[in-house]
Amino acid sequence: MVRSSVLGYPRIGADREWKKALEAFWSGKLEESELHSQLQEIRLNHLRKQQEKGIDFIPVNDFSYYDHVLDTATMFGIIPKRFPYKGGIVPLSVYYGIARGTKDATASEMTKWFNTNYHYIVPELDGANPVLTENRPLNAYREAKDKLGIEGKPVIVGPLTFLKLSKGYSISETDAWLERLLPLYVQILQELESEGVQWVQIDEPILVTKLSAADLQRLKTIYETFAASVPNLNIMLQTYFESVENYSDIVALPVKGIGLDFVHGFYGNMPTIKALGFPADKVLGAGVIDGRGIWKASLRERLVLLEELGEFVTADRIIVQSSCSLLHVPVTVKNEALLLPELKDALAFADEKLDELVLLTKAVSSGVAVIANELEKCESALEALKLSGERNRNDIQQAVAAISAQHPERSLPFSERHIAQQKKWQLPMLPTTTIGSFPQSAEVRKARQLWRKGEWNNEQYANFIREQIDIWIKLQEEIGLDVLVHGEFERTDMVEFFGEKLAGFAFTQNGWVQSYGSRCVKPPIIFGDVAFEEAMTVKETKYAQSKTDRPVKGMLTGPITIMNWSFVREDITREQIAYQLAYALRQEVEALEHAGIGMIQVDEPAVREGLPLKEEDQAKYLAWAVKAFRMTTCTVQDTTQIHTHMCYCEFHDMIDSIEAMDADVISIETSRSHGELIHSFELNTYKLGIGLGVYDIHSPRIPRVEEMTNMIDRALRVLDPKLFWINPDCGLKTRGFEETIDSLRNMVEATQIARAKH
Ligand code: GLN
Ligand code: ZN
Repeated sequence: MVRSSVLGYPRIGADREWKKALEAFWSGKLEESELHSQLQEIRLNHLRKQQEKGIDFIPVNDFSYYDHVLDTATMFGIIPKRFPYKGGIVPLSVYYGIARGTKDATASEMTKWFNTNYHYIVPELDGANPVLTENRPLNAYREAKDKLGIEGKPVIVGPLTFLKLSKGYSISETDAWLERLLPLYVQILQELESEGVQWVQIDEPILVTKLSAADLQRLKTIYETFAASVPNLNIMLQTYFESVENYSDIVALPVKGIGLDFVHGFYGNMPTIKALGFPADKVLGAGVIDGRGIWKASLRERLVLLEELGEFVTADRIIVQSSCSLLHVPVTVKNEALLLPELKDALAFADEKLDELVLLTKAVSSGVAVIANELEKCESALEALKLSGERNRNDIQQAVAAISAQHPERSLPFSERHIAQQKKWQLPMLPTTTIGSFPQSAEVRKARQLWRKGEWNNEQYANFIREQIDIWIKLQEEIGLDVLVHGEFERTDMVEFFGEKLAGFAFTQNGWVQSYGSRCVKPPIIFGDVAFEEAMTVKETKYAQSKTDRPVKGMLTGPITIMNWSFVREDITREQIAYQLAYALRQEVEALEHAGIGMIQVDEPAVREGLPLKEEDQAKYLAWAVKAFRMTTCTVQDTTQIHTHMCYCEFHDMIDSIEAMDADVISIETSRSHGELIHSFELNTYKLGIGLGVYDIHSPRIPRVEEMTNMIDRALRVLDPKLFWINPDCGLKTRGFEETIDSLRNMVEATQIARAKH
């Protein structure tokens, strides 16, 4: 008998009830006991759903009050010293303090979970003295069993992955840390074993990245220790997001099961299994349903895949499972009422994926005939999407093929453009500017709501936006900025805004996924050929320009960012999608230029996020990402100045690619890793215009003039003052009105001091 398994289920709930409970608790509107009972209800609901659908191995301890990595750290009593903690079960005040910061202590850093858009809290090991504060997996197991009679499968972040994702220790201390953590893991597992738990899932996604010989040795130590300590507990060593490196070492470990990703790791894992086989004493967790994509699987193709795997593993040793936790997809398609039928029918979110897992399991166990109807329905839904007019726009496909065959290049190299631009714009030394958005006050949000609800007509709303532009153009002049922006008041989200105006996009009503903590995002779906329909930003930009003699920078989101922050179709490559977006955005760039806008910023904060996990795939990705940016921007006149902006991430290992984008000016977030980034620019001798953010916009604190002059001085030791710009780290839309004005005044004052010096 084949069995089905899920690696994790979304926490947020179909109506984001999880988010609402957390936020109510944080704002003091919900008692702690109420929070616990609301979250328990949500958690049990999710378990019940999986039980009713007929999933054999239902995950427990995948639920969280914020983040599963933070859960693991706090379970081990790893609490940064700046939080008041006296031992025992970690109180929620400390738990949420680490996650979100308190008035006395800054939050722990958060960063992306591998190549997903989920962010985890980075454990800080320095100074910690790990002890087991509670056995969370055991508690979760008992709850599922007592309340619902479910024989749950506890999920735990594995020791190697936990260590590699933590900070606050040096490489030479790794083994010492492992020695401290390992007994705690053993204790957890022993308690699970004595409770009668059958399977645990130990997540080691780090195994899809390159590991040193020392790490492989650690891996061996870990799993040999487990095998010796809990001989009767079945361990599923779970990997995901890519194929494993070191397959032979991994399958030789003394564990009962190995979980492999056959969706995102297909091209690595499949040939390896074919070449090296799979050990006869182990169970294969076959991740055949995409845990992080939103499309219906072709059941027929998945069955072929399972059949192929059946040549190496007998059916009773195969578990049909999702490729990774379903955390990365929305909860259900069921209530989506506004999607095109051919699109809706081709989608599968978490709940629909449960159905797919069960169907596949049935078919493998009892023959395809038992799911003949569902199979037929599935294939015809996929066929209908394939035939959709939205996916078959010859005009677009031909145009994109033609322009992507050319090498996208500005007509002059930067050194010459720069002279022409300087002559035209006559900017002072160290020109000042901002990143695009200004505070989206309650008033702005309310206006948008009124308009969306139909209480305001288009004219009323447009008037309101114009008033905001008026206010901020005046303010920017008065503050003394050199290059102005219109402020982006008409946009809620930098991707959604463009997606709503381009063809090929769809928007769900409730397709939320957790991004970090209670913050959820609702990515657009790029399901058809992307096409420009009409100008998207010209009206507001042109209006702003009409109100001032200083240059107003047009403001667009770049092709790679739009793609990386959307769910995308899978029938064409991401590279092709990027070029379609580039072609559409190029038309917007041209429309802006035609309307007299001579500086245009194309934001690309999310380039880094699309970077493949495997090093050998990275160069290719960066090459087409750079090409897409150049396609978007290369047709403008020499005197038109192309800006770009990047933030959120470490960029120091991709400066060559940033340079290859050939933007006349880049503004880049640095205030949190200033020294490091400057050093990288020094090594790479960056030769284009650049503004390193001189203050952190994530904090309401008003930066002092002196701090910013220091930043500028430091940067100018490395970078050419003739190419240097002064700007904040990122857009200002989340900031307050007064603090923004005060901060920018200080920034301009710091610039004047720097101008006098350099
Ligand atoms: N232009 C955008 C803004 O200012 C850029 C946002 C971003 O970098 N994330 O809001
Ligand atoms: Zn930014």
